[in-house]
Amino acid sequence: RAKGAGRNRLACFDSQLAAEAEERQRLEGELRLALERGEFELFYQPQVDTDNQAQVMEALLRWRSPSRGLVSPAVFIPVLEDTRLILEASRWVFRQACRQALSWRRQGYNWRIAINLSPLDFHQPDLADTLIGILDEEGTPAELLELELTESALLEADDMVQETLRRLKDAGLPLFLDDFGTGYASLTYLQQFRFDGIKIDRQFVAELPDNPRSVALVRGILTMAVQLGLEVVAEGVENERQAAFLRLNGCHRLQGFHFARPQRAADCVRLAVHA
Ligand code: C2E
Ligand code: MG
Ligand code: MG
Ligand code: MG
Repeated sequence: RAKGAGRNRLACFDSQLAAEAEERQRLEGELRLALERGEFELFYQPQVDTDNQAQVMEALLRWRSPSRGLVSPAVFIPVLEDTRLILEASRWVFRQACRQALSWRRQGYNWRIAINLSPLDFHQPDLADTLIGILDEEGTPAELLELELTESALLEADDMVQETLRRLKDAGLPLFLDDFGTGYASLTYLQQFRFDGIKIDRQFVAELPDNPRSVALVRGILTMAVQLGLEVVAEGVENERQAAFLRLNGCHRLQGFHFARPQRAADCVRLAVHA
């Protein structure tokens, strides 16, 4: 009896795995089509300065699937990465952001756009050529953009990655280290690479200002960053107490639901008009 139950559980487990594998294949297929059919969209979330003025808009990718609705990047980015489709997606995001930055500037909004790149992007020898090529084609000045990369992009940073980062910087694209403090060697990377700024991960912001450990960590990060001449952005700011603490301690830019959720480009403009 007990054995039978065990076998049943195993069979059940097997069919669950099979179902997951099948769903995964379906998702891959749909994502391939989504790229061809133009089902991706960019949402934008502002980063405000100490006067609450939007300075930078972070482009955040969304998939508007005909069958699944609006899908979060947490679901599809890992699949795009496994299939290397992310390389094509990143180029699309970058070109789209170039156009949007120009369009906003024509409308009188001087917002820069921050673009997230995948670790896989940085392991392509032609990344710098590709991005600089798109800037040229679109006629977008590099100073209208910023690039965000996570530590995982630097894990096996060989000479090629170093060279790519140097060329992107020389082209005028500022580099920001995203999710700062959550990796294994954040300080090593600050020592090795010439970043323009860091984004303090929202796990450190979440318990400000009540948790004394968060307070000490964020103050420490800010002191260090200022001494290194780095611009500091705090992500995940959800209330005014967090915002006040961060401003008081010299954080340059704040981003989070307290100010605005990621939204479509047209809604960003509406928001600015009402501000
Ligand atoms: P990220 O770059 O660290 O982006 C911040 C994430 O935090 C966004 O989630 C944003 O919506 C969310 N967020 C912003 N403010 C708050 C807040 O106050 N509270 C909370 N709880 N969350 C907040 P999203 O848009 O789901 O993106 C998740 C991640 O997906 C991004 O993390 C980024 O790593 C990746 N991603 C998004 N767009 C792209 C893209 O175009 N290319 C690549 N390679 N990755 C992307
Ligand atoms: Mg980011
Ligand atoms: Mg981040
Ligand atoms: Mg994050």
